[in-house]
Amino acid sequence: MGKKMAEEKLTPRNENYSEWYNQVVLKADLADYAPVRGCMVVKPYGWAIWENMQKELDRRFKETGHVNAAFPMLIPKSFFEKEKEHVEGFAPELAVVTVGGGQVLDEPLVIRPTSETVIGYMYSKWIKSYRDLPVLINQWANVVRWEMRTRLFLRTLEFYWQEGHTAHSSAEEAQEETIRMLNVYADFAINEAAVPVIRGVKSETEKFAGAVNTYSIEAMMGDTKALQAGTSHNLGQNFAKAFDIKYLDQNNTQQYCWTTSWGLSTRFIGAIIMTHGDDNGLILPPRLAPYQIVIVPIYKNDAERSSVMEAVEKVQKQLIQFRVKLDDRTEVTPGFKFNEWELRGVPLRLEIGPKDVEKGSVMAARRDIPGKAGKSILLQENLAPQVQAMLDTIQASMLQRATDFRDANIHNANTYDELKEIIQNGWAESWWCGSADCEAKIKEETKATTRCMPFDQPKTEKGKCVYCGAEAVKKIYFSKAY
Ligand SMILES: [Zn+2]
Repeated sequence: MGKKMAEEKLTPRNENYSEWYNQVVLKADLADYAPVRGCMVVKPYGWAIWENMQKELDRRFKETGHVNAAFPMLIPKSFFEKEKEHVEGFAPELAVVTVGGGQVLDEPLVIRPTSETVIGYMYSKWIKSYRDLPVLINQWANVVRWEMRTRLFLRTLEFYWQEGHTAHSSAEEAQEETIRMLNVYADFAINEAAVPVIRGVKSETEKFAGAVNTYSIEAMMGDTKALQAGTSHNLGQNFAKAFDIKYLDQNNTQQYCWTTSWGLSTRFIGAIIMTHGDDNGLILPPRLAPYQIVIVPIYKNDAERSSVMEAVEKVQKQLIQFRVKLDDRTEVTPGFKFNEWELRGVPLRLEIGPKDVEKGSVMAARRDIPGKAGKSILLQENLAPQVQAMLDTIQASMLQRATDFRDANIHNANTYDELKEIIQNGWAESWWCGSADCEAKIKEETKATTRCMPFDQPKTEKGKCVYCGAEAVKKIYFSKAY
């Protein structure tokens, strides 16, 4: 990164949130624009976050019995005509290959926007009997959706994700799987990314094209807009019927399978940026940060340098279990380094100067608490447990702060006027009659969409739809969203 970039101040969030976001992504060196409109290059620092996310997600997938495989990127176009809702949902976003090897293809090929179709086709070949079930496969892949309005990480033509695809011998088992994986996402979001998410079910309008039910985790960003951070779909027998995924049950009768799919993408990096970032830049949760600790040596002359670097080396040796960056550049000042690593969101900075050498100490500065309040003195002796405790504290207080912020910005809206007011700066929790008409009118008039009907619902209480006044049994969140 160039010296000049780090010295320029970011646009403050309350001045222009969207500009702040773009600057953070570019200046923290997470990603860049590609030559094709809407495509993104994920740079090494951004990719390192994704790798840490992958590791934590993949571990959870395997702990719940899943295995990884890889399916092709090119899918016959006719596959997208088999499931009616799926084709309507995805047709406008498909990228289609019509020429290959200089020849016009007999059948055009779609670059996968998601893989239910090709995986369904393969499952119909692989699954014969109830003994073959359940099939629990995940793939890490890139997909292409021809989006019109794009933002780095949040919405790009091509993005990276994982997509899980499972097949089961009963409706109950498919439903259990759908919820299990939603819970895996929620656990990952809360405990690894410190992003407090709300689990719930999407409305008919907002569900995945071809699903019976879509469940999501919804997160509140720093500007109070919502971001759908992961989804899990119960596909019922819709894809099984479209792709003929059948099995012989114990009574030797042919049955259609019940299938699910679930995905979480590089979009989630946008959620981390916008949940935690401040006017100085990125704040990364210690559990996912590429560097958990940056060490900055401080000295004025060669004599100081040699004793400081000696201490730095000893400190470094104690911290091998952490992801540590030693910034020993000589061409920039310590102050410049502080700003740069703050911008790039490293959770903990350790400064070591001549006084620390004398006293056997280290100055620690927390990224999540700017200025003096975030500084404390640690002892060089037995440093690792002190650092671990501090990273744990940072992780926990980032989650707490984000949770407090979210809860302070969700309000009950009992009337439509209240809803309109609340969604200017927060989420409205309202009774909703379930009608797609009410949902569409609210969206048209206020730009707020339904996010999810949270699992946590009033037990017996009923209410009146915030739009039409009809009797309602479910509460739902309305908000502006990414
Ligand atoms: Zn209504």
